[in-house]
Amino acid sequence: MSARIIDGAAIAQQLRAEVAARVPAFTQRAGRPPGLGIVLAGERPDSQIYVRNKLKLAGEAGIRAELSALPATASLEQVLSIVRTLNADPAVDAILVQSPLPDPLGPAAMQIVFDTVDPAKDVDGVTPVNVGHLVQNRAALVACTPAGIIELLERSQIPIAGAHAVVIGRSEIVGKPVSLLLLHRHATVTICHSRTRDLATIASTADILVAALGRPGFVRRSFVKPGATVVDVGINRVTDPAVAREMLGEGSRFEGFHKRGSVVVGDVHPEVSDVAGAITPVPGGVGPMTIALVLANTLKAAESRQSSVDSRQS
Ligand code: NAD
Repeated sequence: MSARIIDGAAIAQQLRAEVAARVPAFTQRAGRPPGLGIVLAGERPDSQIYVRNKLKLAGEAGIRAELSALPATASLEQVLSIVRTLNADPAVDAILVQSPLPDPLGPAAMQIVFDTVDPAKDVDGVTPVNVGHLVQNRAALVACTPAGIIELLERSQIPIAGAHAVVIGRSEIVGKPVSLLLLHRHATVTICHSRTRDLATIASTADILVAALGRPGFVRRSFVKPGATVVDVGINRVTDPAVAREMLGEGSRFEGFHKRGSVVVGDVHPEVSDVAGAITPVPGGVGPMTIALVLANTLKAAESRQSSVDSRQS
């Protein structure tokens, strides 16, 4: 059996088109397009690619996206100062601080930045207010990657209610919020992490298995119940030829690796396709959904902020 491929690129394109179709009505009502402010500190090539894609696709959807770029040597105060400026700008509806921040800013920097973002503009649902609302199942703005995973499952007619969902990874940005979203849709949820014992045994009881740990090809055939849906969140840039061969086989993708010297692979080993019922590919699965949700959340934040303006004026 070979698993059905869940085409995240196609579903994301559909979602972006839905957002783009709603933008003109907002722009007419507000007298300006929805505004997205992106903050990028440092010169990581992968972050630069993600940001460039977000700017391009936002523009195509009619959203005004602006980049505030800082060097890798930027101080935390400089990052916070940009966030405060965006918080105060009435033409900015949504703020996205590209992670990770440069290492010298320290491990607590991201949380300090999250704590500074205006919750009404919190496009990635990372502020304590929005996380609290998510826990209580009344969130307005939910983290983009987890929300994108739910869209992928729902639009692919994968039943969530009553299913056993196992999430590998407990990060603030993926593992925890996706677990809550699955729970709110009535899945029975097990969260696994780096200290979980018998991980493969637990994973193999899942109807829906979400791999979000950042380890290339970690999830093997033995982790997967036959027919299960597997969501591969991992984005791992591999430069080791042995790992690349293991993940890509000897075909054309491995030749591509040789030319470029690196390749992006997921957390799920390709052999899982032989047992899973449905699977999201990397690339072309969860990744494009994350960007589509950034656009959807920007419009949602814009509409909600405009409703507040309208009700103050009436
Ligand atoms: P993270 O490093 O913050 O968290 C990883 C989690 O995995 C931790 O909770 C840890 O306990 C768990 N873990 C690590 N090693 C493990 C092991 N051996 N066994 C079990 N659990 C283990 O990572 P993150 O930010 O959640 O990202 C996870 C992956 O998803 C990364 O590859 C990242 O690049 C990718 N990602 C993709 C998107 C997207 O749009 N597709 C968005 C965000 C993150």
